[in-house]
Amino acid sequence: MRIAIIGAGFGGMAAAYDLKKAGHEITIYESADYVGGLASGFKEPHWDWFVEKFYHHWFQSDKDMLGLIKELGWDGKVLFPRPFTVLLHNGKWYPFDSILRALLFPGLGFGLDKIRFGFVGLYLRLTNNWRALEKYTADEWMRKYAGNHVYEKMWKPLLVGKFGPYFDQVNMAWMWARLKARTTRLGTFEGGFQNFADLFADRLRKMGVEIRLGVRVESIKREQGKLSVRSEGDSKSFDKVLVTTSPNLMAKLSPDLPGNYLKGLLELKSMGAVVMVLSLKHQLSKEGYYWFSLPKEAGFPMLALVEHTNFVAKEHFGGDRIVYAGDYLEVGHEYFSMTDEQLLERFIPAFKKFNSAFERDWVNKVWVFKTSYAQPVALVNHSKNIPAIQTPIDGLYFASMSQVYPWDRGTNFAVEIGRRAARLMLDKA
Ligand SMILES: Cc1cc2nc3c(=O)[nH]c(=O)nc-3n(C[C@H](O)[C@H](O)[C@H](O)COP(=O)(O)OP(=O)(O)OC[C@H]3O[C@@H](n4cnc5c(N)ncnc54)[C@H](O)[C@@H]3O)c2cc1C
Repeated sequence: MRIAIIGAGFGGMAAAYDLKKAGHEITIYESADYVGGLASGFKEPHWDWFVEKFYHHWFQSDKDMLGLIKELGWDGKVLFPRPFTVLLHNGKWYPFDSILRALLFPGLGFGLDKIRFGFVGLYLRLTNNWRALEKYTADEWMRKYAGNHVYEKMWKPLLVGKFGPYFDQVNMAWMWARLKARTTRLGTFEGGFQNFADLFADRLRKMGVEIRLGVRVESIKREQGKLSVRSEGDSKSFDKVLVTTSPNLMAKLSPDLPGNYLKGLLELKSMGAVVMVLSLKHQLSKEGYYWFSLPKEAGFPMLALVEHTNFVAKEHFGGDRIVYAGDYLEVGHEYFSMTDEQLLERFIPAFKKFNSAFERDWVNKVWVFKTSYAQPVALVNHSKNIPAIQTPIDGLYFASMSQVYPWDRGTNFAVEIGRRAARLMLDKA
């Protein structure tokens, strides 16, 4: 079969790998001039490693990603340091990345609340019945079982930070999955995620996959028994096509999809993200903390402050300290239209709260990355609203972050859904 894949993110590349191994002719179309999609990175001339545009790490439970890397023979290049994640309480930061640390966290008091927190955590770690949980919002379920205090202190800030106006509509299965699949050790790839994406793309090319970079697909139509893929004045026909973009874009690329399927795509909700990457002259967190979770009500102008070089060594970046300041936001949010300089001015006073010695002249350089599609929002009974990978148009398939469920989206699940789509395309599912 002649197969086209739209998107050279980890989902598209994983699908291409399996489809090529099964003996098919594969073309990947990628609008950017690099592979890796949302997990791609960039490099300054004096850096040996790439920095991801949006902060990225793996969990030890990411079996699809780690399994693929092993299959490709690069498991020796995966690193799993143990960086510190911290949470704010009464102006002080507390490590908060294991059950023990959570139980010691003073923000929950040491009475009944802590017991409820412990039992709810244990129940969620042990149960596999997420279908029962998706009927409730995390807001109502957590208030009922963990109690208002624990919810307000622990879980609400997480929901507000990630989902903004949708915070009280997200279902409890999302929260379950998040607690179930996370580990304290966090992983990365030697050279950064981009290095892995580039190595993977090279392997695919060697296998005979054609990767067309810088080619934006404009439409996909069924014509004369084939699927015709149009891109910038060019049109090619394929037996099957897999699209790995956002649901909105899928609806635009293939307007001939039946009304019900299109409606399903357009009704899916998601959040965008704005992330600033800073190269600094000095270490920001003297304690060596990696991830600061910042509750919105504490007044920080960002949701997460992540000191990348407290996770991987600064020597990979010529001694520069790399820090991310980011937030999940609705697309109309002012951060999307601010210049890099304006955003930096907004963030600068907050950096002093992490290190009182911080000065403006610590900043070597900043980069700001924005995406309108960063985090799907899983509403109540989301499993019933997930668009099928096999669309109603014969030969046309769709695999996106919005169909990853109940797990929270991530490169691991991009690989999982990409490979699942490939099995469906090969009629092996
Ligand atoms: C802020 C943030 C933090 C994250 N943190 C983590 C993390 O810590 N760990 C983790 O594992 N994951 C993380 N993720 C999620 C992870 O990046 C994604 O789940 C994963 O990269 C999705 O891969 P994908 O292949 O499904 O889609 P994408 O990576 O979005 O790939 C789709 C590709 O399609 C291309 N494309 C779009 N339109 C067209 C067109 N018309 N023609 C041709 N090509 C087109 C795009 O350029 C893109 O390359 C994070 C994401 C964000 C935004």
